Amino acid sequence: MKDQLQIVTAFDNTVRIYAALTAGVVETARHLHDTWPTATAALGRTLTATLIMGVMHDDIRRLTVRVAGDGPLGGIVAVSNRRGAVKGYVNHPQVNLDLNSLGKLDVGTAVGNGYLYITKDIGLKEPYQGVVPLQSGEIGEDFAYYFTKSEQTPSAVALGVLVAPDGHVLTAGGLIIQMMPGAEDSTAIFIEERLSQLPPLTTLLEQGMTPLQLIQKVIGEYTPLKLLDGVDVCYECDCSKERFLGPLLTLEADEVQEMLATKGAVEVRCHFCNRLYHYDQHDLETGEGSHA
Ligand SMILES: [Zn+2]
Repeated sequence: MKDQLQIVTAFDNTVRIYAALTAGVVETARHLHDTWPTATAALGRTLTATLIMGVMHDDIRRLTVRVAGDGPLGGIVAVSNRRGAVKGYVNHPQVNLDLNSLGKLDVGTAVGNGYLYITKDIGLKEPYQGVVPLQSGEIGEDFAYYFTKSEQTPSAVALGVLVAPDGHVLTAGGLIIQMMPGAEDSTAIFIEERLSQLPPLTTLLEQGMTPLQLIQKVIGEYTPLKLLDGVDVCYECDCSKERFLGPLLTLEADEVQEMLATKGAVEVRCHFCNRLYHYDQHDLETGEGSHA
């Protein structure tokens, strides 16, 4: 099924629900970064939550999420925009740990202890920044804590990535349920109960459910809902040769000259897509240059 994100409201606009299918996004990330299963799950969950969060508010131009844990993954970065495009990387992609006591990929141990940093570029001079301590490193709980603590929006977050024995991504997706101002306590209790009775998200995704079917699973088949928006989502890196040139020109001249002398060119690799850019003497002198 195509990667997509559906946004609805229910209970008189007091509950907002986001449901996303992201198997294509996560498989692209795995392929680009050659991630091993535990790293695939950690990066995939982070990409999915970042995608959803990127379309939550109209004023966000660019959202940057950093999961800074002290575990073997060494940190995760994801960046999204309101068009539904996301990119990301994990510092140590070749991490695969034993399954945890629940028989799941042990994302919490791989991430470790640390902080979740959220940076929102809303077009002002200074971006908005928020930070919370990681709760479990399982990513879903960490985002839920961020929404509740930092944005005063009580939220439930379920993220799932299912990896095949050969390492490729079978299915992936996410659900974020948010209580808006005016939500009744009884509604929150009802949704909490329904969530506690649901099978794991990966099980529902494996059944081939659409985002709307996932949402109906949470709020009940007969609860009316209002469609707000549907967005096609994808993994996309917007880097270019020109983009890396600026930072290169700020390097010490000696450093650049040494690289040119030893390699004949200065090489820069994009962390998000692993594309390699070459800059020769001419590129650096004219400050523009052509594509590699
Ligand atoms: Zn790139």
